[in-house]
Amino acid sequence: PTAVIWFRDDLRLRDHPALQAAARAGFAPLPVYIHAPHEDGGWAPGATSNAWRHRSLAALDASLRQRGSRLHVFAGDSLATLQAIAAVTGAGAVYWSRRHEPAAARRDEAVRRALRAQRLRADAWNASLLFEPWQLETRAGDPFRVFTPFWNAARRAWSPQAPYPAPDALPEFDRLPGETALDALGLAPDIPWDASFWAHWTPGEAGADAALQAFIEHGLHDYRDGRDRPDRPLTSRLSPHLHFGEIAPWRIVDAVAHAGPVEERAAFVRELAWREFGVHVLHHFPQTPDANFNPRFDDFPWAAPDPALLAAWQRGRTGVPIVDAGLREMRATGWMHNRVRMVVASFLTKHLRLHWLHGARWFWDHLVDADLANNTLGWQWVAGTGVDAAPYFRIFNPVLQARKFDPAGEYIARWVPELRGLPAKARHAPWEVPSGSRPTGLYPARPIVDLAEGRASALEALKRIRVPV
Ligand code: FAD
Repeated sequence: PTAVIWFRDDLRLRDHPALQAAARAGFAPLPVYIHAPHEDGGWAPGATSNAWRHRSLAALDASLRQRGSRLHVFAGDSLATLQAIAAVTGAGAVYWSRRHEPAAARRDEAVRRALRAQRLRADAWNASLLFEPWQLETRAGDPFRVFTPFWNAARRAWSPQAPYPAPDALPEFDRLPGETALDALGLAPDIPWDASFWAHWTPGEAGADAALQAFIEHGLHDYRDGRDRPDRPLTSRLSPHLHFGEIAPWRIVDAVAHAGPVEERAAFVRELAWREFGVHVLHHFPQTPDANFNPRFDDFPWAAPDPALLAAWQRGRTGVPIVDAGLREMRATGWMHNRVRMVVASFLTKHLRLHWLHGARWFWDHLVDADLANNTLGWQWVAGTGVDAAPYFRIFNPVLQARKFDPAGEYIARWVPELRGLPAKARHAPWEVPSGSRPTGLYPARPIVDLAEGRASALEALKRIRVPV
């Protein structure tokens, strides 16, 4: 008998619980991908995410072909497509890996019920997390709203999971009615605006492995301090691989457990736990991608969006070098360093006083690791509106951040070529430099908002919230 393996954000063959379950039950696995962005609610994947997905699906198809199988690709409604496949193949089961985005989770539940009503085995497994989002709870049985107790509970509950190999050989299936080609899904850009990305990334399971190995060799030993330095490549850059499920988080934990000093390892696993916390929060508070977690901010006086200011931020033309460097890094590579994500988000929501959703949407379209749980957590954290958030009155000074975390201005020079000719120390705040040695090109002579004034007006706005935060 056949089991349809419905691939979504679990694009790998190793450590794949649904595949393992099919093998254990003696099913012949039929690998299927269904393109259905209309089922993702208001957060259908953005263009950058699609560009990655195209390559990751191609990599999955290639490794299936090496084993005698291939990926059967469809576009349309998920349930109708799965029902049609089951009808044609006589499949006895449909297996998949759980997703926790609210729209996808609702859709999956409807699919499960409908398939079970037809007497098919329809089951889902955890492929993306160390803990299911409902597994950890406070002593009172509530969801966690603060990270540190969540992390403590996670450490207490942790039990290692053994890595599981990919199957050696897989059966071949004939072409099914309605099948289409991966290239026909329109995931890859028509105009290759993503051309500069792929020197930095290799989507797919092998690329994820290589990123993990490179991190263990070059980054892990200095992760605690190094993770805050955008000028030094010391973080793992595993985020897109994790988002697309090209590697299991438990394989990452297992690999670092045998490498590097204990404090460095612990600091890294703690960041993986932030990712778990993000999914926990999204599961329990599914409104948060679109609404403040903290309702006191519902009457916060955000500035009316000024298209010119927003565009200056989006394009990396604010005149604040570290902010511009970050936004340009994202446009050129699909990724931005975490420290700089915090700085650009603070600048948008505080100095420009624009609603965090403007930033969350821009990130959503431009990150290869765009992830509803982590993006929502990150934006609401910086904006001060979220769970366990930095208070709104804590406003990053982008010049001090740059001096501290990019001391020689190397990161700035890499992404803002107009500032390369300045002495290192002058790159952090070029408007302070004597007029003889100013930026070249059309770089703004001054920041689009005076930093002291922007800060003062953000703090003033905070006082206008009716119920103080
Ligand atoms: P590493 O430092 O090597 O960390 C390892 C892994 O831990 C990451 O791959 C990631 O999965 C997880 N992780 C690390 N930091 C965080 C964090 N602060 N929150 C949650 N998980 C974390 N991350 C995304 O994956 N997708 C997003 O859409 C996203 N949007 C963000 C938006 C804002 C405003 C902010 C401040 C952060 C956002 N992050 C997001 C979190 C973080 O910036 C990235 O996960 C990290 O930069 C990825 O780089 P890395 O893989 O080298 O991280």
